[in-house]
Amino acid sequence: MSQKQTLSFQAEVAQLLHLVTHSLYSNKEIFLRELISNASDACDKLRFEALDNNALYEDAPNLEVRVSFDKDSRTLTIADSGIGLSQQEAIDNLGTIAKSGTREFMGKLSGDQKQDAQLIGQFGVGFYSGFIVADKITVESRRAGAPASEGVQWTSGGAGDFEVEAIERAQRGTSVTLHLREDASDYLSTWKLKSIINKYSDHISLPILMRKEEWKEGEDDKGGEMVLADEWETVNQASALWTRPKKDVTPEQYQEFYKQISHDHEAPLAWAHNRVEGSTEYIQLLYIPAHAPMDMWNRDKAAGVKLYVKRVFIMDEAEALLPVYLRFVKGVIDSADLPLNVSRELLQESRDVKAIRDGSTKRVLSMLEDLAKAEKDEAASDEDKAKYGKFYAEFGAVLKEGLGEDFANSERIAKLLRFASTTSDTASVALADYKARMKEGQEAIYFITADTLAAARNSPQLEVFRKKGIEVLLMTDRVDEWALNHLSEFDGTPMQSVAKGAVQLDTLLDEGEKKAAEEAAEAFKPVLARLKEALKDKAEDVRVTTRLVDSPACLVVTDSGMSMQLARMLKQAGQKAPEVKPVLEVNPEHPLVKKLEGSVHFHDLAQILFDQALLAEGGLPEDPAAYVKRVNALLI
Ligand code: ADP
Repeated sequence: MSQKQTLSFQAEVAQLLHLVTHSLYSNKEIFLRELISNASDACDKLRFEALDNNALYEDAPNLEVRVSFDKDSRTLTIADSGIGLSQQEAIDNLGTIAKSGTREFMGKLSGDQKQDAQLIGQFGVGFYSGFIVADKITVESRRAGAPASEGVQWTSGGAGDFEVEAIERAQRGTSVTLHLREDASDYLSTWKLKSIINKYSDHISLPILMRKEEWKEGEDDKGGEMVLADEWETVNQASALWTRPKKDVTPEQYQEFYKQISHDHEAPLAWAHNRVEGSTEYIQLLYIPAHAPMDMWNRDKAAGVKLYVKRVFIMDEAEALLPVYLRFVKGVIDSADLPLNVSRELLQESRDVKAIRDGSTKRVLSMLEDLAKAEKDEAASDEDKAKYGKFYAEFGAVLKEGLGEDFANSERIAKLLRFASTTSDTASVALADYKARMKEGQEAIYFITADTLAAARNSPQLEVFRKKGIEVLLMTDRVDEWALNHLSEFDGTPMQSVAKGAVQLDTLLDEGEKKAAEEAAEAFKPVLARLKEALKDKAEDVRVTTRLVDSPACLVVTDSGMSMQLARMLKQAGQKAPEVKPVLEVNPEHPLVKKLEGSVHFHDLAQILFDQALLAEGGLPEDPAAYVKRVNALLI
């Protein structure tokens, strides 16, 4: 088909274009970064496809990007010798947005132009950023391997539609020509373009070429001027940043590289760059981001590490390179040993990959340990001191998954965890801090899990701990219950849920208290037997406890049982949870409990006692209406 076709942009593209052209002009220059990045991706794709089909290089093996301009026609062209586009690909890729991220992008726009401009890159609307400076864009392309007659020209003024037309095109790859707006004349300058390339695209591993400039004397007495020569020169470093020695890379360059690979506009909290030698050789450049993406909670979310083999890009999101709980890490791994045609399946089985994964995991953990150390380091700047807290607020809950996933490192992970506690509102208590503050005679690290901090803090199960001044960790992350199952002790001290089993408080009670408790239990025995009978359908057992001070009763589960909270969570998530029959613990000193003996309402009181204990820990009575009726009857 050779005649011109006019097609409409997908509605979302049109909306986006409107936005791009009408509100994003405070940081115009990023369009060049986006287009060069697309050109570089196109070259990476060619290199990758050519691994199986060398003919794709045709007779032009060079992969490069050429940036040129023409002052007279006011055009700026970014041309690459990459994979190119077929006509259908031009229609699909430049006329629609395949990614669901775009709507998210629209929603995130803040009205702050600088921030919004950063978002353009983050959400992969890169190509359209050309319209920030151009009122018309012409793309000419031919897919590598296709005949010259299958070239395509794509043109759009950035409004509702675009045109495509078949053209002859000898060279493969894509050239994007921007017809610059009146107010974008700045970009018709070698100096200006070079400085933008230097700022954003220096680390691109392909050469970026521009025409040389030379001085041309004026005729007669007129002054001379700089004119473009026919010769081209490389204007970037053209070596992948991670292959350079550390000492040659500035912090700004590391940060800029991070922004490019992560599409995150905020600087990372930390990075580590190493060349690892030994039985497996690789380079790792790993970053800890400062904030979590929206889909962090999804364990299937794409991993953040790109895999290269000997500088050749192999794949994004190489999930085999780090365990799932470190999915927030971004970066690049460049292996010297893996075969170039490695597949995702192969990665899972490779011994080299296993070594890379172990090494990278250790590296990330030690980065985190360094951040945590700075938190307490007098000499550290305020900014550095705040970093671990920042990290933890964003990724702490994800890190906890490591307890169940990475047994080899669980001790190191446990040291990195932070919790709120009965003495601290914020999640800032390390297990080691807790241990250092343990009371004489205290034998365990106590914790409670609940849906909210308030529910945890007010739980009746904490009463005796409060009375005795014993700190209890308050855990409210969804993952806590599961994760803590995998942490039975920390540094030799057992971890003990206060909602599980009979808490061993004997060592914490003084002689008088012990004696009183024993006597109370003895005296209560007949009532206890009746209670057990009355509640036999609901409670696994009923027993006397010393853990309550102000409350009449509370529920606990047996040591081996699943906690009530976890069972509820599973149920909410639509999963089958085993029936959890809790143990009712009663406080024989409480007036309500004392009232039981001799009461004509014994059965109703027993039910109320149980249901209230359930309510207090965030559950719901099995038959709420019956509960209300019983309470009302007593009130009247
Ligand atoms: P992204 O690059 O994030 O996918 P863009 O809007 O920048 O989003 O580009 C959309 C698509 O157009 C790309 O995914 C790619 O398939 C295609 N594309 C853009 N520029 C080029 C190019 N120079 N060569 C080949 N394909 C390109």
